[in-house]
Amino acid sequence: MTAKTGFLNAAVLTCCCLAAAIAPANLVQNSAFAAAQCWSEEELAGRPGEKAIWRTPYNRAIEPRGTFTELPPVPPQMRGSIRSVKLREGERLVALTFDLCENPGEISGYDAGIVDTLRREDVKATFFASGKWLLDHEERAQQLLGDRLFQVGLHSWTHRNFRLLNDEQVRADLALDLRADAEVRKKLASRACFRPAFLNDRQADIRLFRFPFGACNEESLNAVNNAGLLAIQWDVVSGDPSAQTAEAIRQSVVASAKPGSIIVMHANGRGKHTAEALPLIISDLRRRGFSFATVGELLERGEAVIAKSCYERKPGDNVKYDRLFPVKDHRPPRAFLNSGDGSAPGQAGERR
Ligand SMILES: [Zn+2]
Repeated sequence: MTAKTGFLNAAVLTCCCLAAAIAPANLVQNSAFAAAQCWSEEELAGRPGEKAIWRTPYNRAIEPRGTFTELPPVPPQMRGSIRSVKLREGERLVALTFDLCENPGEISGYDAGIVDTLRREDVKATFFASGKWLLDHEERAQQLLGDRLFQVGLHSWTHRNFRLLNDEQVRADLALDLRADAEVRKKLASRACFRPAFLNDRQADIRLFRFPFGACNEESLNAVNNAGLLAIQWDVVSGDPSAQTAEAIRQSVVASAKPGSIIVMHANGRGKHTAEALPLIISDLRRRGFSFATVGELLERGEAVIAKSCYERKPGDNVKYDRLFPVKDHRPPRAFLNSGDGSAPGQAGERR
């Protein structure tokens, strides 16, 4: 089914940010780097080792205790799992999305190669960040939030399988996630470089949510929508957590992308070849006449295509995560418990 998206325009949030309109000419010619006002080119660039994922026991002390703005429930026409957007005839926009998942027993990575490419190519994108990722990567989180190219949505507090959580657990998780998000946005807004004049349509950021593993059931989908969050799924799977080559990712994406598509990838170190594939994807899609929009912009320009359930490629195909990721609390999965030494994880981590 499809639904009109006037709801987005009603978004009212107090804590957002845009840093600046003018970037140093040597950094980028087109002033895409709103973030550059707060950070030097060196500070924005990736550092060696940042993409690595580290095992570490869950530390309850980092759970945020601040406040967040309660949102009105999502109206009926936007409830459900949003898979793509139906655009006007001839409009060729797609949304690249990158998940920043972080499990309870790890500190996941920051794939700077992806962000650098997006900035260099002046390509808009949407990130879905776990709340714990935001707090564990606060500077990077602020840089993403402060860049006018990017929209940052929520991805749960510690990336548990929402199909296995009860209503109370879902609400508690969302509260932690929303608090983490509010905390980082507030810190960015308080920086001397912050310019309220550059607040823009990204005020709708906080309304976007992606389920961990893209997995939900009716109850958790309702809970997310009741919390005022749009559930953003995808219609194009890059397969980047398991892809063996950049070319495989490129083919998965380019062959399936169509106007209004939402494409899922990872920027937390779980996509081994994603950064390598991205310039090829951008170039191929541009050659086919596509431009890039954030998910929020896509929704504002068309009608959401909404499914009643969450799934990866076809209904029911993500039930497998119940077996693969049965963790219901914030304790690290068993595979992480024997390794609190910061060693790199093997295959025990999530696959989205
Ligand atoms: Zn994820």
